Amino acid sequence: MKKLAVVALGGNALLRGDQKGTIDEQELNAYETSERLLVLIKEKQYNLVVTHGNGPQVGNLLLNNSAGNKLFGLPEMPLDICVAYSQGFIGYVIEQQLRNVLLHNDLDRDILTIITQVLVNKDDKAFKNPTKPIGPFYSKEEANKIIEETGAQFAEDPRGRGWRKVVASPKPLVINNKKSIEKIAREGTIVVAVGGGGIPVFYKEENILQGIDAVIDKDLASALLAAQINADKLFILTDVPKVCINYNTPQEKALDRLSIADAKKYLKEGHFAEGSMAPKIRAAIYFVEHSGKDAIITKTTKLGVDDGGTRVVMV
Ligand code: ADP
Ligand code: MG
Repeated sequence: MKKLAVVALGGNALLRGDQKGTIDEQELNAYETSERLLVLIKEKQYNLVVTHGNGPQVGNLLLNNSAGNKLFGLPEMPLDICVAYSQGFIGYVIEQQLRNVLLHNDLDRDILTIITQVLVNKDDKAFKNPTKPIGPFYSKEEANKIIEETGAQFAEDPRGRGWRKVVASPKPLVINNKKSIEKIAREGTIVVAVGGGGIPVFYKEENILQGIDAVIDKDLASALLAAQINADKLFILTDVPKVCINYNTPQEKALDRLSIADAKKYLKEGHFAEGSMAPKIRAAIYFVEHSGKDAIITKTTKLGVDDGGTRVVMV
């Protein structure tokens, strides 16, 4: 039986900070990223589940939302709907470009995007203290108006660009379609799932599922999925070849291997920046602790390279 891997694509895999976000850019990035996955598909013979972020894309959707509302009075869609839009859009682009890469390499595999809901708890303490800034910047007056109308929470941007809505980033608890994801992936279809960390949903009452204004960390959701579908490996792809301690200092040291105990110690000591490397380390710890398997944090171009990446291991 083929081994199963979950590959979490970071921001740069689809859209870089210095790009505008045109569809040509995103298609080209998706093609190049898909080419890098060939080593896992062809040489390492993995069955694959691909997960991805949606930060820039959902940011643009929220801007569309507010422009459509201002200009045409269109009703604004809540964040869960925007995450669903972004999963469909990004899944489509990945499916198409990955299909092109497979065709150009004489490989025959199906690819399927699954719009994925992820269960969170409405009592998660993240809802009492929303910290994740999303969407457009507003003036203080505009922000106050929205706060009055909707009860949303806003925070001032530390870089002085204005006021921005902040939402909770609750812990993912259950990946709703995990059985189908595992079954289809083990049959050899490449599955694209939990885009943007998944659409956050909660039980409003015992039998009433509903979307909620929040965003789920994509690395944590990917690790949860990987553990829940018994994956053999979790690859977290980002834009650095290895995890470092003393990052960006003269004492910087890239790590080939990182035990769970050391990872926890370094997290406490503040070696990993919040909002960037820290969630990836937490995700890797979660997967390794729950599966007994290894997680790899690296850059797309280092996939399959012998000493490429940082291997997070049990001991
Ligand atoms: P994503 O690729 O999912 O978008 P981020 O850009 O949020 O991920 O996080 C990756 C970034 O984390 C790297 O580009 C790097 O600058 C930063 N980083 C912070 N701390 C470290 C560390 N200790 N070692 C390596 N990279 C780190
Ligand atoms: Mg990034």
